[in-house]
Amino acid sequence: MLAWRVRRPSTAPYPGFEARDEPTPRPERGELLIRVRVCGVCRTDLHVVEGDLPPHRPGVIPGHEVVGEVVDIAEGANGFAPGDLVGVAWLRGTCGRCRYCRRGAENLCPLSTYTGWDADGGYARFVTAPAAYTHRLPSGYPDTELAPLLCAGIIGYRALKRAELPDSGRLGIYGFGASAHLAAQVALARGATVHVLTRSARARELALKLGASSAGGATDPPPEPLDAAILFAPVGTLVPPALAALDRGGTLAVAGIHLTDIPVLGYQRHLFQERQLRSVTANTRADAREFLAIAAEHRLTVVTTPYPLDRADRALADLAADRVDGAAVLVP
Ligand SMILES: [Zn+2]
Ligand SMILES: [Zn+2]
Repeated sequence: MLAWRVRRPSTAPYPGFEARDEPTPRPERGELLIRVRVCGVCRTDLHVVEGDLPPHRPGVIPGHEVVGEVVDIAEGANGFAPGDLVGVAWLRGTCGRCRYCRRGAENLCPLSTYTGWDADGGYARFVTAPAAYTHRLPSGYPDTELAPLLCAGIIGYRALKRAELPDSGRLGIYGFGASAHLAAQVALARGATVHVLTRSARARELALKLGASSAGGATDPPPEPLDAAILFAPVGTLVPPALAALDRGGTLAVAGIHLTDIPVLGYQRHLFQERQLRSVTANTRADAREFLAIAAEHRLTVVTTPYPLDRADRALADLAADRVDGAAVLVP
């Protein structure tokens, strides 16, 4: 099968990222073998390919937004049949025994493993995944639109939860890529007022089309104080303006796995009046199930830009340069 592997970290045009033909993997105990129909391209893949995230598995195949079809089921893999349409997401395993797992915070498990980082992911024709961490998918979406739901959508949803937006609250969204455009729609479906702050004129246009009340530049003050904000852009210098835009008691959630340094904060200007700054770390399986149920109930608009699998390097370069509308997806 065709598979892309990170031989060594590199930047665009990614000489260390190579596509080769190799044998189809075999599912181990508890795993499914899945034929990849679509794999989404997430910013985290870029961090893996460029080396911002230190490699966990040498020569790993990235990709953790896999929509595919079950073709083989190993012993101990329960709940699926051949031919089932399934989704493989970022969280691939947790210990189930640590204090975090026991209290329902498996996203914080120190022994957690991730698709496309600790184990081979979906930038290939086939992928294996533990059945216990594989998801059923909502109906009513084409495969290309399901893929971005599996990380962009789930993480955006967790970030929205972490931002603790009150009912009918005012939400600020900084950066408006794949994750943000989905989180915005969930917030709007729940009656929020959404203000989008982003440097991309095309993204601002999309935000307004999807129902945002305003769309301004990345560091512009929003037209009204915010009850909650989510920082999707991996840009630490946006933390101070986003905190300054919060109303009393507001919360800023940083959605990314990687953020450039945050400049010095002023206590009065950025934090006093019980404003909070929070991170978001991966997601639990419960987050995934909740979000996929919301996606089944509200038909979300999912903007995608498809690339053939053999142009994964090009898709990453376009994502790095902010040239992608919505979510890039790879189609084998
Ligand atoms: Zn654990
Ligand atoms: Zn992701």
